[in-house]
Amino acid sequence: MLEKDGRAGEGVSSRNSGVIHAGMYYPTNSMKSKFCLEGNRLLYEYADLKKISHNKTGKFIIASKKEEITKLEKIYKQGLINGVTLEKFEGKEIKKIEPVLNVEAGLLSPETGIIDVPELVTALEGDIQHSEGIIAFNTEFISAKKKGGSFSIICRDKEKFEIQSKVLINSSALNSDLVSRNIKSLKEEYIYKINYAKGHYFKYSGLNPFSSLIYPVPDEFSQGLHLGFDISRQLRFGPDITWVKDINYLFDESLKEKFIKAIHNYWPEMDPEKLNPDYTGVRPKIQNPKEKMQDFSILEVNSHGVDGLINLQGMESPGLTSSLAIGNYVASRV
Ligand SMILES: Cc1cc2nc3c(=O)[nH]c(=O)nc-3n(C[C@H](O)[C@H](O)[C@H](O)COP(=O)(O)OP(=O)(O)OC[C@H]3O[C@@H](n4cnc5c(N)ncnc54)[C@H](O)[C@@H]3O)c2cc1C
Repeated sequence: MLEKDGRAGEGVSSRNSGVIHAGMYYPTNSMKSKFCLEGNRLLYEYADLKKISHNKTGKFIIASKKEEITKLEKIYKQGLINGVTLEKFEGKEIKKIEPVLNVEAGLLSPETGIIDVPELVTALEGDIQHSEGIIAFNTEFISAKKKGGSFSIICRDKEKFEIQSKVLINSSALNSDLVSRNIKSLKEEYIYKINYAKGHYFKYSGLNPFSSLIYPVPDEFSQGLHLGFDISRQLRFGPDITWVKDINYLFDESLKEKFIKAIHNYWPEMDPEKLNPDYTGVRPKIQNPKEKMQDFSILEVNSHGVDGLINLQGMESPGLTSSLAIGNYVASRV
């Protein structure tokens, strides 16, 4: 495994919400729906096995206005088609469980939870090494071309060197378009340009009065400005969606007003004084700002024609939840 950084999981994987999603939003038979459901189950099993900190908190998807109830209905129906457990709640019933919430109605997803991502990455690293895999840190993929039945791959640590491999798996997230372009036999028509969609998170320094994660109804591009927390119950809000031209993690503090307005829709007593900038993450999207949600893209020889190449792009949410299921799928294709 080639990794250009000095540590594993420092890319998209270290800047997300750490949520184990249940998979109610994704279109029928999409890879996102299939891998999310399977990945959810596998990740809980793996976390139990490896003693990774996690918590099946459950989540409420909420309608804070009457007009949003039809959107909840749509999510409920899609969830049932996808095989996701969902329970319908009225606003006053939700108040008994989450007393500070002020909403019209909601759906409870009991299979949603949170996981400590650095612990997960460390466990996966251990598995690779115990299975005699090698992770070459500070080693960048430069280019590959087909030579006989193998790929000749040029890498760089301090200097450039060549390795040979029958199989090449490109899973470089935000760099996946650049990496794809440097695989010589892969035609441009099979390469998606990656669009960068930044998400900001604000943390809340007050007490956390919630037992479940709280998600407003989603839009085309993200799952809305949700309320989440980590294993230590530190409350945070986000991510928003801000399209950017390059990969940077600068924080736009002027978004605070937008966050306050959105949060006050469902938690009127939230104290804006306690809301402070936390971190940002960048989604590797294969859709542009005008397009609808796209599925994960995992292309193989039967589509792009390059024997031995498995090219993964658009690995945005629910990529963390789906990771073990995607891993199994890719292994089966190899
Ligand atoms: C704001 C945000 C919130 C999210 N929330 C959730 C969530 O709650 N639940 C969920 O399921 N998913 C979530 N996701 C999605 C999830 O984080 C990603 O799908 C997942 O982390 C992607 O993993 P990856 O291994 O593909 O990418 P990465 O973790 O970025 O790994 C790719 C690796 O490739 C390396 N690399 C790149 N180029 C080269 C090169 N030339 N040579 C060598 N190495 C290279 C990088 O250094 C990097 O380490 C979220 C994403 C974002 C941005």
